[in-house]
Amino acid sequence: MPRKPIKALRDEQDYNLVVLVPGWFKNELIDHCEQLGTSINQWVVTALRDALRDSKGLPPPPPARVPLPGVDEQIRAWAAGERILMPCGKPAPCPGENPTHLAGFDYCDECGIRVR
Ligand SMILES: [Zn+2]
Repeated sequence: MPRKPIKALRDEQDYNLVVLVPGWFKNELIDHCEQLGTSINQWVVTALRDALRDSKGLPPPPPARVPLPGVDEQIRAWAAGERILMPCGKPAPCPGENPTHLAGFDYCDECGIRVR
């Protein structure tokens, strides 16, 4: 019989969440994250956050005011001493008014982009 989950004692503290997956799924997840250039932890946290938001019926983040800047655009802006705009329309990094803290990362509350 599965054990009842134990709730976290502190909202801002990071906790491990262990799930069992078959080997083929783990390998597929590793390959997918490598293609995206992201860590498995970051990808899983983002996917779980989006799924939880969907299950609550919360609306998705508003449409981007500007496209997410590419690496070449970031390098060009850095070399020119300019600040690039993030999808919420604020200069990078865009912490927003109330960034969401999740698993050691901070997300902009307006565009949902990880800022730290
Ligand atoms: Zn933002």
